[in-house]
Amino acid sequence: MIILKTSQELSRMREAGRIAGGALAAGMEACKPGVTTMDVNRAVHQFITSHGAKPSFLGYGGFPASACVSVNNEVIHGIPSKQRILREGDIVSIDVGAFYKGYHGDTAATVGVGSVSAEAQQLMDVTARCLELGIAQAIRGNRIGDIGAAVQQHAESFGYGVVREFIGHGVGAQLHEDPEVPNYGRAGRGPRLAPGMTIAIEPMINLVGEDVEVQPDGWTVLTASGSLSAHFEHTIAITDNGPVVLTTRP
Ligand code: MG
Repeated sequence: MIILKTSQELSRMREAGRIAGGALAAGMEACKPGVTTMDVNRAVHQFITSHGAKPSFLGYGGFPASACVSVNNEVIHGIPSKQRILREGDIVSIDVGAFYKGYHGDTAATVGVGSVSAEAQQLMDVTARCLELGIAQAIRGNRIGDIGAAVQQHAESFGYGVVREFIGHGVGAQLHEDPEVPNYGRAGRGPRLAPGMTIAIEPMINLVGEDVEVQPDGWTVLTASGSLSAHFEHTIAITDNGPVVLTTRP
């Protein structure tokens, strides 16, 4: 069941989203050579808690941290570690959720550590653009399939692989609500988009191949090919005036 939000609920979601966005920015800023993925998690955690919010991911399904920090061939759900040291040229996907006044904001981005290869930069740029193109389709009267089709078309035009096994989702009082928001699909198919719907659009794009595998830790998702992967996400609201990004960054 898709839960539509009132304008009052949307303004609370905007507050939660703004905290999530700020926490993501803090995590991105922390990504320097020599820093551990646990340091990145700490920056995210501190931002969220110092703004009176709760980290949505901490304890969710048993996840042990406030941010997912996924390096290079890790697609999503990387567990922060004091042993994992970031090096120049790495790309780091940070996924953050903040729970505030009863609502979640969910957002992610991939950032380079120092200077990165042209190949890595293009993957990040294209994935960020996939998110923009997906958001542009999130308008009243369109369907969920219009979002996925736009993301898929752009990613595949570069020969990249669109992850199928993990997808975007509705978000609100629950971190994961209906509808499912795949990053692939056919335009004109799926649930119709209506004002008051709040969804997380989150393309996960692999340099080579769409297949992924979950590590023995039960969380970390890797590219099956071993190639780099990028991930960008915003929580957005569908409104009469078009899509509104709730997880804005300062
Ligand atoms: Mg999400």
